Amino acid sequence: MSHDRSTCLFCKIADGLIPSTRVYEDDEFVAFRDIRPAAQTHVLIIPREHIPTLADCGENEAPLLGRMFVLVARLARELGVSYTGGETGYRTVVNTGPGGGQEVYHLHAHLLAGPRPWQRMG
Ligand code: AMP
Ligand code: ZN
Repeated sequence: MSHDRSTCLFCKIADGLIPSTRVYEDDEFVAFRDIRPAAQTHVLIIPREHIPTLADCGENEAPLLGRMFVLVARLARELGVSYTGGETGYRTVVNTGPGGGQEVYHLHAHLLAGPRPWQRMG
């Protein structure tokens, strides 16, 4: 599988070359609905920068990763699925490499929430 920017599906989505259902975008990140949702709410949060996997991240990426997870928490609030006590809350997943079930080699966080049962991922 190619990990190049030129053939990357999520770079094309970030650039608007492939359609997606966007829920958020700014200069650094784009968030859109997963095309095969595993839960009622299933959003992918990606940096615009092409970073293939979490395993490619080091100290240089720490600020970006920090902002990415803060954005996950913000989107969970805005989508009405945040943890507000009781039985509420959501799951955040970053699959890494074939062993982690990663299918698209552009760093992304899954935000999953909603009533069970959920579909299996990977
Ligand atoms: P992962 O297995 O962590 O790499 O997750 C990749 C996710 O991207 C899967 O949940 C797919 O359903 C999702 N996906 C693949 N193609 C698209 C697309 N064109 N638009 C939105 N989500 C997609
Ligand atoms: Zn990419």
